[in-house]
Amino acid sequence: MFNDVAVAVRALQVENRARRILIVDCDVHQGNGTAAILSGDPAVFILDLYGAKNFPFHKEPASLGVPLPDGTGDADYLQALQTALPVAIERAKADLAIYLAGSDPFEGDSLGRLKLTKAGLGARDRLVLTACREAGLPAAIVMAGGYARNVADTVDIHFQTITLAQEIFDDRL
Ligand SMILES: [Zn+2]
Repeated sequence: MFNDVAVAVRALQVENRARRILIVDCDVHQGNGTAAILSGDPAVFILDLYGAKNFPFHKEPASLGVPLPDGTGDADYLQALQTALPVAIERAKADLAIYLAGSDPFEGDSLGRLKLTKAGLGARDRLVLTACREAGLPAAIVMAGGYARNVADTVDIHFQTITLAQEIFDDRL
């Protein structure tokens, strides 16, 4: 077991490829491992939106944590994200973002306990990636969790993220 994001952050730092890094963690489970490994590093800022009542039951504080109640839907989720994102981008002063685009806040997820639709998850991706783009931040995306009762839904949601990233970051389109 290893934490891909923490390994990537440390590798980028060692190779001098990024000075300050913003992590936007939209996997529904609180990023306790990432926070435990990186929260002491002043060059790393972690924004974490997660289910308050979901696993892990002991949360590790992120730089900016946004706990969400069970059953949170598109409107409340997007409002929370829209409020937190500019704060995180401003405080991180990063030159790279790593976005954990978990598909597990989806309403059809067996472990997520939230109620986002596919369209809501697309709006989430668009908010995060557009904010990065407008701040001049390159963004690396990892899939993170996804446990939809219908596996094809997990695939759709991750595919949607990649399609949106291409649209938002590719000037040729
Ligand atoms: Zn998860």
